[in-house]
Amino acid sequence: MTIDIEQLLRENIKKLVPYSSARDEFKGEASIFLDANENAFGSPLPSAYNRYPDPLQWKLKERIAEIKGVPAEHIFIGNGSDEVIDIVYRAFCNPGVDNVIICPPTYGMYEVSANINDIALRRVPLTPDFQLNLEALEEAVDGHTKLIFLCSPNNPTGNALRRGDIEVLLNNFKGIVVIDEAYINYSRHKSFIQELTEYPNLVVMQTLSKAWGLAALRVGMAFSSTVIVDVMNKIKPPYNVNQASQELALQALGNVDQVNAWIRETVRERETLAAALTALPLVLHVYPSDANFILVKTTDPRGIYQYLVDKGIIVRDRSRIELCEGCLRITIGTPEENRELLEALGVYAAVAH
Ligand SMILES: *Cc1c(COP(=O)(O)O)cnc(C)c1O
Repeated sequence: MTIDIEQLLRENIKKLVPYSSARDEFKGEASIFLDANENAFGSPLPSAYNRYPDPLQWKLKERIAEIKGVPAEHIFIGNGSDEVIDIVYRAFCNPGVDNVIICPPTYGMYEVSANINDIALRRVPLTPDFQLNLEALEEAVDGHTKLIFLCSPNNPTGNALRRGDIEVLLNNFKGIVVIDEAYINYSRHKSFIQELTEYPNLVVMQTLSKAWGLAALRVGMAFSSTVIVDVMNKIKPPYNVNQASQELALQALGNVDQVNAWIRETVRERETLAAALTALPLVLHVYPSDANFILVKTTDPRGIYQYLVDKGIIVRDRSRIELCEGCLRITIGTPEENRELLEALGVYAAVAH
């Protein structure tokens, strides 16, 4: 199937002349920079932050390219994945005209971003085993459906979506398929990042906020065709990823071994915690997880949530969400934290609520 990405873009975005920053207009080596109205004396800090950062974050992208095996020109970096989501909306969706599809229960930002951009949202719920409902998806698509958001492994359910189902969408949908892989490092399943050459309408999102342990720095990534990456670069604020985040992220990417060790330990803890939770009478079901959290169906989600809060342990109450009735979402902590959680739940069960 051939897709003309240009034709999917909003007219105003196609015509957009992006802001040209001082850093865009002169890129060579020089010793005196008097072009950006920066403070030439420095910053009142131990490190110098007086110069504007690289708008396209090339050093960071080159390193990510090495790790991921995807050329740097196919990488977009956002101020968190949330910025990536918003920019995809602004690239493709005409407010008040177009629509997008999400598959709840899923990550809340797809919906919020749709509302901010005044884009109609079509909900095609996952099946009870949290997989895609392909027939319902096919029915939901019309000529104005620009994006389908998939989250795999999915938040809050924790499972990965079946690869074959995603491929059906990639092969048949004439809009953009966004696959949010925020939790891919914890998954048994392969990323779609290597399929970019196969599918020009694929956008894969990843983030440094989860396995990489850099949530505070706000570094989100999108991997896509150069056509889409170029358009996203046109839309983003010129300096969307600050210098400190670029430098620290680059430094962190040198610590792959540490991150991999944490991933292995998190996955081990996930399986231990899942088994221990299953044994508790107040737990009705532990859903299998490919992420760093587990969705747990309980007898009394609100009571348990409040009891844990009183013990200083915060989990996420997802019990009011469709298909997640009774459920708490529990992030995998350190072994010590997980032990304390289990101890608290054991006491809760013992004093009979
Ligand atoms: C945590 C999370 C993200 C990460 O968002 P950032 O803005 O990069 O921190 C993205 N998608 C999903 C589904 C998440 O759960």
